[in-house]
Formats: sequence, C-alpha cells, structure tokens
Amino acid sequence: MKRTLVFLFIVISIIALGETYLRNPLDIPLEITGYFGEYRQYKSQDNPAHFHKGMDLSTAGKTGAEVLSPANSYVASLVVNDPVYGTRLTLVLPGVRDYFNNENGIKVIFAHLESVGDLTTEAGRKLNVIYRKLLSEFGTNYVEARFHPDEIAFKTGDTVAYSGDTGGVAPHLHVEIRDISEKVLLNPGLYFNFPKKSTEIQIIAIKAGGKEYKFDGKTVEMTSYSPLAVRARVLSRHYISPKKISLWIEGKLVYQIDFENYFFIDETTKVNEVYMNSTPSDYWFKLRSSENLSMITVNNWNEEDLSSPKTAKIVVEDHWGNTLEKTFNIVMRR
Ligand SMILES: [Zn+2]
Repeated sequence: MKRTLVFLFIVISIIALGETYLRNPLDIPLEITGYFGEYRQYKSQDNPAHFHKGMDLSTAGKTGAEVLSPANSYVASLVVNDPVYGTRLTLVLPGVRDYFNNENGIKVIFAHLESVGDLTTEAGRKLNVIYRKLLSEFGTNYVEARFHPDEIAFKTGDTVAYSGDTGGVAPHLHVEIRDISEKVLLNPGLYFNFPKKSTEIQIIAIKAGGKEYKFDGKTVEMTSYSPLAVRARVLSRHYISPKKISLWIEGKLVYQIDFENYFFIDETTKVNEVYMNSTPSDYWFKLRSSENLSMITVNNWNEEDLSSPKTAKIVVEDHWGNTLEKTFNIVMRR
C-alpha cells in the first residue's frame, strides 16, 4: 500500500512538473537577451533607472514575429503609446499557478509590440479591430483599454500580437509575469523553459574602500563607510546579469542577491541599493545594504568580525545553474 502511494505520488509529481512550463510565446527557440532584475538606466522622468521587470526574448533580429498565447488566456488590457512599454498587451492565464501567493492565475505582459491581434481567430480579429481603433482615435496619446474576462479569450498557441522594436535596443519581445493583483513581479524563468546554455560567467573585480581589486592575492581592504561591490556578468550571446550572487566569509553565507521576484510598486526603482555604476550590460553588485529588498535574500553582515583578515568567496550563478567562484582575503580598515 505504502509503495503504491509513493509510486502514485511520483507519477503525480511528474505530471505536475510537466505542466509547470508555459508554451514558448514565439515560434523560434527561447533565448534570453535581457535578464530579470537587470540594471536599466535613467532615460526620462517617465522611465527612471529601474530593475528590469521581465525577460527580453530574442526575435532573431527581426520585428513581426508572431506572439502566441502561452496558455489558455483572456485579455486584461491593451495599452498603446506607453513611454516605457510602447504597445503592451496584458493577458490573464487563469489556470497557471502563481508561485508567490500560491494560488491559480497570473498575468503575462508582452511589450514593444508592432501590432496586436491577428486574423486567424475570432478573438484575434476582435482585438485587432480595437487596437486599430485606439490608434486612429487617439493618435500618439497614451491610452489603456481594459477588458472584461468574458470579452476576448485565447487558447494556448493562438496568435495574440506581433513583436516590434520600440524597446530601445535591437528588436525583441519583452515578457513579464505578474501576480493577478500586479503587486509582485516574478522571474519569467520560473514559467518559461529556456533551453540549457553553456555560458561564460565573469567575476571581474571587487571594489572596496574606494579601490579596485582583481583577485591577484591582495587582501581586500573594506571600510565601513564606502561600498563593497563586485563586477560580475554572464556572457550568453549578449551580456546578461546573473541570477544569484553570494558572498561567503569563513565558510558562512553573509550576503546573497537572488532575482526570483520583487514588489512592483515599492522596489522597481530601488536599483541603487543593489547596483553601483552599472549599465544594461555591465554590472557592479553591492555586497552590503541596510535595505530590506526582496532580491537581497541573505543579509548577515552585522555578525561579521573582520578586524583581522578572513577568507572570503564570491559565487556567481547564471539562470541555468552554471556557477563561477573567486576566493580572496578580506579585512575591515577603520
Ligand atoms: Zn525588457
């Protein structure tokens, strides 16, 4: 009996795991060109420096790629002329698990779109008519159209939009996952299966006490009043930010940044608590903070005694679980 239960449990978990990932919203293999939580610099008052709110997916350098519904969905809203997102479509996926609140239903946002809706389904035609109406009636003004859950429903794989290039860099599809109430942004890597990649993780330097150290055996001398930071990145086809950075001192995990999720309203622009002098493709991660942010998952600094040099280790992990570590000695100068 027990064995049968265990067996059943395994079968059920395998089925559940099989359903974890959403359908690829593109017809080409998924490739990340911009990571969740990555540094985005100030562009305008409407678009201040912020953590990247979603994942950027390659559209092979082109616009006009079909964007497909990643599960059964209905349209929640359509925005045109957003200063940050351009044309943005928000879908509700009612049957998909929200891992943050542990309930069913998430929102998926597609942005920088070239057009919305298509002619192959009734829902697509209806959406396309509304999209064109918004453009003709409101010109270049920002407009948001909201929909009742019964209005426009799509099935998994239906075309919902076409990708564009208003993202400020090469054409790509920006995809974002939010909880239903849009309080939390979740790492889209929890929902989409990005094929395993061999990447080159780089840990380039440490900054402490206003000086840069390159892992050449010199003891890192930090001070309590200047930042401690590490310059690290992941070379995929482009540079993207790591998922996780951990600082260990004397075998104890002292500090960790992990981009799993964060609060949309409260945390999106608190980027200077995590990053220092960064660009969208080159990142300095601060390794100390007094702020309580979702992506700072371990912060045990006050328990450290660095009056004499201690051994330390930085571990950087990419989205696929590949890691690189660098060791050094660290001391606090007063
Ligand atoms: Zn993006």
